[in-house]
Amino acid sequence: MPAPKRKPATSAKTAKPVANKIADKFARLGLRSDMDLVLHLPMRYEDETQIVPIREAGFMVGHPAQVEGVVTSCDVQFRPRRQLVVTIEDASGPLVMRFLNFYGSQTRQLAIGTRVRARGEVRHGFFGDEMVHPAYKIVLEGAPLPTVLTPVYPSGEGLSQAILRKAIANAMARVDWRDTLSEPLLASLALTPFEPAVRLLHNPPPDVDENALADRSHPAWVRMKFDELLAQQLSLKRAQVARRAKGANALPVIGALSAAFLHTLPFALTGAQQRVLTEIRADLRESFPMQRLLQGDVGSGKTVVAALAAAQAIDSGYQAVLMAPTEILADQHFRKIAAWMAPLGVGVAWLTGSLKKKEKADAQERIESGAAQLVIGTHALIQEGVQFAKLGVVIVDEQHRFGVGQRLALRNKGLGTTTSLDGAHTVPHQLMMSATPIPRTLAMTYYADLEVSVIDELPPGRTPIMTRVIDQNRRDEVIERVHAAALEGRQVYWVCPLIEESEALQLQTATDTHATLMAALPDLRVGLVHGRLKPAEKQDVMDAFTRGEIHLLVATTVIEVGVDVPNASLMVIEHAERFGLSQLHQLRGRVGRGSAASVCLLLYQSPLGPIAKQRLATIRETTDGFEIARRDLEIRGPGEFLGARQSGQAMLRFADLETDQWLVEKARTVAQALLRDDPQTVEQHLARWLGGREEFLKV
Ligand code: ADP
Ligand code: MG
Repeated sequence: MPAPKRKPATSAKTAKPVANKIADKFARLGLRSDMDLVLHLPMRYEDETQIVPIREAGFMVGHPAQVEGVVTSCDVQFRPRRQLVVTIEDASGPLVMRFLNFYGSQTRQLAIGTRVRARGEVRHGFFGDEMVHPAYKIVLEGAPLPTVLTPVYPSGEGLSQAILRKAIANAMARVDWRDTLSEPLLASLALTPFEPAVRLLHNPPPDVDENALADRSHPAWVRMKFDELLAQQLSLKRAQVARRAKGANALPVIGALSAAFLHTLPFALTGAQQRVLTEIRADLRESFPMQRLLQGDVGSGKTVVAALAAAQAIDSGYQAVLMAPTEILADQHFRKIAAWMAPLGVGVAWLTGSLKKKEKADAQERIESGAAQLVIGTHALIQEGVQFAKLGVVIVDEQHRFGVGQRLALRNKGLGTTTSLDGAHTVPHQLMMSATPIPRTLAMTYYADLEVSVIDELPPGRTPIMTRVIDQNRRDEVIERVHAAALEGRQVYWVCPLIEESEALQLQTATDTHATLMAALPDLRVGLVHGRLKPAEKQDVMDAFTRGEIHLLVATTVIEVGVDVPNASLMVIEHAERFGLSQLHQLRGRVGRGSAASVCLLLYQSPLGPIAKQRLATIRETTDGFEIARRDLEIRGPGEFLGARQSGQAMLRFADLETDQWLVEKARTVAQALLRDDPQTVEQHLARWLGGREEFLKV
């Protein structure tokens, strides 16, 4: 066969991008295989099975209705703006269809005398009843109505319902419908078989219970939710088993360093700290990697526990690394922990992105040689491809602040995955810390692969923080209060409003606020810290504040996590209505760290929307991080809560963790049994429901 010349090559080239474009659009919805399409279930249904008289539709304001009539006028009008206005009529009366965007061809398509079926919400317009942008089609008199509900699928740009419907119907003709679950299992769980459930959801029969379809309590939906949850549980449990099968270096020695460190602490551990320490110590002795989440409310004392985990690694002859999400926090850990450890003869290194080349090289050198036993830094630790001599434990502070990608990198590329002398791969133990507690339902699903320890007690001697919500127009009184507090020797944070749209604007506001407060409080020393300062400058300001040389620190959210200055006891947050709940909780956690009674003043700009109102009420009523997380989940829903828009595919599509809790429990039990007894079913079920997406669930 002769080699194709120019022409065919070009036509192949032009044909391909078109096909790819459609495939890309499907791929963007996560639809790659036939089974993906079959499991792309309707998000709702439209009832096109009935036609109501136009006059009757007029009484259904705010509800969708389908009417049918003949066009009696069709005009392009120019006031108040260009629009197509079409009147249709049936025996009961007229209705206006209004199109603000339209094609020229529509004026011909909707010529007088044409019969139209239109579906939309009727509203009472200036010229009588009307539908704005109704869905419509041209029909012949007596054209049959659909007898079933019309599915509406989640869609993306450029994918019409018609294209989706067709692709799904084609896929349904091709897939392997065999049930992944056995008949006895289905019977024991009272679940509908797979094929009829899926078919019903795509093409609901005329007599279907519409309410049960809409609120997803229909047995067909229940089956889908169960399958989805089961896939998630199987995947997570398997990840756990796989992790346990990997080797880790056992860190069995709780020796001289641990003892000396505990001895130098100016306080005794709380009961809760003691308990979680016992759990962590036991994990570190194992020769499979620990994967533990340490939860404890803001100020509960997680850092000491982390330092003791590091001490165990060092006592056992290994290195420990502590990674923090911001430079300020990494710096604070470095000073604090280095001050604890260095006198005990521990080699400490510090690595962040802002180090000079030479300093970085030095740090890397000491890490590689093992001279640095304890390494503290930011995510630069992952980026710089740092090689450890003998890494025993990785500690991640404020782990929820790291992006999904960073967490994956940390877990999969295995910061410090090492090959031991006998050639076996080992991964380090991992301790993740977070002050944002995960509600039980989420812990059971998204974090099922983690062991969880909880510090549920604050160190003694703390006085609870009093929170007040104050209208922005009383700002002058607040400034007066700041003045009085500073004269009493208390230190104050003033948090500038969050401006999400623009970092430049945020910076401007911070500088302006700083200037105004300096002018208003000439006898106080007022500092400013924000994200654009060079790390060294940030450090200088934070140091001066820590030493008590600054009365009032104006700050952006850079101080949100971890910052620990016990003498600070008053916090003002401007435009508190713009912050999320957990952010407010974190910010407020910067005060109430010492013995002085602390106050947090939340300034808001009225009028407040309902969600902002709810948030501010919650933060005023409680300082309990778990309660706040629970309400946050209620207000925002699990997707938002996890910040999981990034991890998209990992989200449950059908099951709702709040209402389907009972199904989660069932799925968990079944997952355990299947993993034990029936690996083939496990494979089939995962292939059907997750395809290649399993990776995302492990983040
Ligand atoms: P977080 O859990 O928010 O990270 P930190 O570890 O920063 O909390 O601890 C908050 C403060 O409490 C620090 O100043 C720390 O030294 C102090 N602290 C920790 N544990 C105790 C304890 N058992 N008794 C008294 N103070 C403690
Ligand atoms: Mg902390």
